Amino acid sequence: MPTLRKRLLVDQWVIISSQRASRPRQLRLGRRPADGRCPFCPGDTAITPPPIDHWQSPAFPDDPWGVQVVPNKYPSLLDGAGSGDEMPDTAVDGLYQSQPGFGAHEVFIEAPQHHCDWASLPPRHIAVIFEAWRQRIDAVSSTDQPACAICFKNHGATAGATLEHVHSQLMAPPLVVPQLRDELRGARLFYEEHHCCALCEMLQHERGSGERIIAENASATAVAPFGSRMPYEAWILPRDHQDDFRRATASQLRDLATLTLQVLAAYDQLFEPLCYNLILHTVPFDLAGEPYYHWHLEMLPRSGQIAGLELGSDLFVHATASEVAAQQLRQRIGSPG
Ligand SMILES: [Zn+2]
Ligand SMILES: [Zn+2]
Ligand SMILES: [Zn+2]
Repeated sequence: MPTLRKRLLVDQWVIISSQRASRPRQLRLGRRPADGRCPFCPGDTAITPPPIDHWQSPAFPDDPWGVQVVPNKYPSLLDGAGSGDEMPDTAVDGLYQSQPGFGAHEVFIEAPQHHCDWASLPPRHIAVIFEAWRQRIDAVSSTDQPACAICFKNHGATAGATLEHVHSQLMAPPLVVPQLRDELRGARLFYEEHHCCALCEMLQHERGSGERIIAENASATAVAPFGSRMPYEAWILPRDHQDDFRRATASQLRDLATLTLQVLAAYDQLFEPLCYNLILHTVPFDLAGEPYYHWHLEMLPRSGQIAGLELGSDLFVHATASEVAAQQLRQRIGSPG
């Protein structure tokens, strides 16, 4: 059973999940597992858990499943529904606090093809992946264990991927993850002071100057955040205020997919090999409807490892100011601005 443990000095938790140790590691070894089998290729039901759900894709009309979601075989969190256990309070053991790792950890197998990545998929297929994320966040929010959900994608070994078959993940823990909690605190303080959403204000400001705008379409904007943690970090946001990704419409997801692929194509010209993380931040379930949070997709190309300074200080140091990054990305996308 995975367990959440609270760090003694700071308001942060870690997950201890011994099952994670037995994961296959294709990328770190630079080859498939010794038996040559990929757990995400179709047909090998002996090593892949049965799907929770699947979505057909207009990009592959002849394929019975375009996108599948399966439980993570090596989960960091476990579904406690039906276990008979009440959702337990945090256990305090003298000095230390811990709690069972109840929640959800799911894997989206994003295409049946083994050798395939987002750059080779059309926007309408990426929109199906986002729709799958949206529906699974909605599904896990209807159970009483998770407090929030994040969806994320690790592409390439430097970004933490261990399997090469195109996939992403959903993690829904029983507490609000620290980074989301910090964003919410900042967003709430900004709202109390200015009576408006900080990211709506940011969009208005950035669209006024254009300096850090990367690309836009009908409903979404890609922007290089003023305080980027990594070179060429990009955020994609719905232009109209929306806190909850569960309420994104089909046309918003298509616009999000189109912009994501445009930014990835620009990254592809700048990074060799291209490794990146995508992270979707959406409002925690209990706070849906509050006026201050604004969902967004964070895109982080990875040219190096997180090292001692970042681990020891949460200070990120790099050489590329976001207005320089935005200009270079704009040139490669070829959009005005
Ligand atoms: Zn595969
Ligand atoms: Zn907003
Ligand atoms: Zn965020």
